[in-house]
Amino acid sequence: MAEPTVPPPTADQVRNLLRAVIDPELGANIVDLGMATDVTVGNDGVITIGVKLTIKGCPLRAQIKNDIESRLETHPGVTKVKIEWGEMNADERSAVMTKARWNARENAGDTAVPVTTRVLAIASGKGGVGKSSVTANLAVALAAQGHTVGVLDADIWGFSMPRMLGMSERLAARKVGDADKPKIIPNERRIGSGLLKVVSTGMLVDDESTALMWRGLMLTKAVEQFLNDVHWGELEYLLIDMPPGTGDVQMGLARMLPRTDLIIVTTPAVSAQKVAIRAADMAQRSFLRIAGVIENMSHFTCEHGSTYPLFGEGGGATLANEIGAELLGQIPIENAVAHGSDTGEPIALTGDSAAAEAFRDIAKKIISATVPATDMAGCSARLLESVEVALGKKPR
Ligand code: ADP
Repeated sequence: MAEPTVPPPTADQVRNLLRAVIDPELGANIVDLGMATDVTVGNDGVITIGVKLTIKGCPLRAQIKNDIESRLETHPGVTKVKIEWGEMNADERSAVMTKARWNARENAGDTAVPVTTRVLAIASGKGGVGKSSVTANLAVALAAQGHTVGVLDADIWGFSMPRMLGMSERLAARKVGDADKPKIIPNERRIGSGLLKVVSTGMLVDDESTALMWRGLMLTKAVEQFLNDVHWGELEYLLIDMPPGTGDVQMGLARMLPRTDLIIVTTPAVSAQKVAIRAADMAQRSFLRIAGVIENMSHFTCEHGSTYPLFGEGGGATLANEIGAELLGQIPIENAVAHGSDTGEPIALTGDSAAAEAFRDIAKKIISATVPATDMAGCSARLLESVEVALGKKPR
């Protein structure tokens, strides 16, 4: 086997990466649950992981396998991932159940982003490539499919979500449950049978120019505060509009929400694609998984039907290829995209243009790549239930 060109990650780094693999039923990651046992890393980049399932025929096995492989195989220096499956004995099983119960209680806190929420951070190497437009349009497209979608405007100084989503009311704060401090309550907007829950610094300040006041604020601290102090409640997706380029925020996110997937937005221009590679590189170093690349401002089609590649060609595909991610879609340049953003009605909501369709197609891809929480045929939850029945804590 060929020696990898970069050194493989250490066993500790692998364990860190595996912390992003969540057992959806037990609501915690497989390392803290004690499911990922031995990790060995060969000099040739081959990683062998022992994974113990609660029961052998666990239907979540395929999902856990996929998740482990997709998180490790894209990491520099990794040539192969081998999983050795095992089954827990009775003692291990009861220990994992205790942990799972404890975690469930911890996660039930009002402030945390629910553990089943799919977190997608929309990032770009530099400003002006349409990262915020992509966030706003994907948010409404996901909500229009009946989902509850949170939007966190982490572009603290350059926030645009209030304008793009037509939601500029000031944020309210109130005490939730028996918490001692009031929580920020996201502003809500119904989209069909779905719901948007949006938080932005633009909803804390009176006008866009007051945002300058936030200059002194440490970006990572602000994002951390938003993740901690917001009462998100039920949430299927959380889209985070990242500030352009910064590695600090990515590192902070990786620490607080290790299961975050990054979507990188680029234009077809080679220069934009090069800076986007840096964003992808930072993501990989902070152990965030890249869900895909979106090429925005792909081409312009005039009223006579002729197409012009105004900002070059191929940047999205080249970037996706280079970082081993999927090209999720290409959004053409359309006046209506800019107009929708300026009027608070993103084009993906009602538009019938190529850009509107492209946004909706990407949302569909995002939805189909997730296992909806309600459809999970679980072994561990059923197991938990049977343990409780056996202990006489639950009626048969
Ligand atoms: P970023 O968040 O990367 O700084 P924005 O989403 O604010 O970028 O977009 C920059 C500008 O380009 C905005 O005026 C926006 O309306 C416009 N824009 C973005 N995408 C498109 C598109 N596909 N077609 C036309 N205008 C676009």
